[in-house]
Amino acid sequence: MNIFDFYNGHTKPYGIIGNPIEHSFSPVLQNTILQKMGFNGVYVPFRVDEKDMQKAVEGLYALGFEGLNVTVPHKISVMNYLCCIDDTAEKVGAVNTLKRTENGFKGYNTDILGLKKSFYINKIDVKGKKTMLIGAGGAANSAAVLLSQLGAEKIVFVNRTNEKAEALRKHISSFYSGETDVISFDDMYTYEKPDIVINATSVGMGEGVWESPVKESGFFKDINAVFDVIYIPWETKFLNDAKKYGCKCVNGFDMLIYQGIASYEIWHDISVSDETALEIKDALSEYFLKGGKKAVKRNEIK
Ligand code: NDP
Repeated sequence: MNIFDFYNGHTKPYGIIGNPIEHSFSPVLQNTILQKMGFNGVYVPFRVDEKDMQKAVEGLYALGFEGLNVTVPHKISVMNYLCCIDDTAEKVGAVNTLKRTENGFKGYNTDILGLKKSFYINKIDVKGKKTMLIGAGGAANSAAVLLSQLGAEKIVFVNRTNEKAEALRKHISSFYSGETDVISFDDMYTYEKPDIVINATSVGMGEGVWESPVKESGFFKDINAVFDVIYIPWETKFLNDAKKYGCKCVNGFDMLIYQGIASYEIWHDISVSDETALEIKDALSEYFLKGGKKAVKRNEIK
């Protein structure tokens, strides 16, 4: 790369707002996309306190930012400072992508688009299927809206905090005509077997890398496919247990890559070709597995 062609007076600024932000993979992801697409832009991380959100959003607009990503804990509060919000993001109730318009930033949710693409490329077909969704936070909200949009026959919600699962079920039922239920973690082992199970909790990452939200691994018998939104470690205990029972197992890496590509597509009003998307994914999975994000494989964990 010739630095003079990429960073000069025409360079367009992009970035991500969160707190903390140091752990974010998005700067690596988005700068890789910018480079692969040959676009003269730069993407930088911003740590922003909740109390400064309005000033930050307005300031970044004033500075000419073309697009932003928003991560934990600002995905909901940022909605107060936008000129408008895309319908799907409104349904999910969270925004992770801002696009510059004449009147301010417009909000989108690309987590749901990344998950949709991951289902598609990994051949997880939820149409007409019984699904179980573990978790009721931001990622689970995206997954629940997607399951409803893709025509799942049934969605069973499981979450540590029962009220949050009930609230998510109520919200989804306002536009989804399929069957829904809320059960506890204790009930899941005796409940009617789902075809597809999604872990949308943070259990299995960070400090709890040896943990799974599913304590009895026999649960996975006769389940067709399982999806874990987590991508560090590459293979969580949840996926490792499911693999032993012959389930199709998919981690959150494709979701992560394709939510980033979807943000780029929204900012630039273009469609990134499948070939380029694969090149981006290959470059980043190499970075990941070489330890760029201190990624560890499950069998390396003692
Ligand atoms: P939230 O904080 O919104 O939700 C966390 C969820 O995990 C809640 O349902 C919470 O339950 C549950 N949970 C947390 N700790 C425990 C525990 N010890 N036992 C049982 N349940 C627990 O987080 P997000 O939804 O934003 O993120 C969840 C995961 O998804 C993270 O690992 C994140 O990295 C990942 N993610 C991946 C993406 C990708 O592109 N692959 C995109 C977005 C997120 P409770 O309601 O009871 O607190």
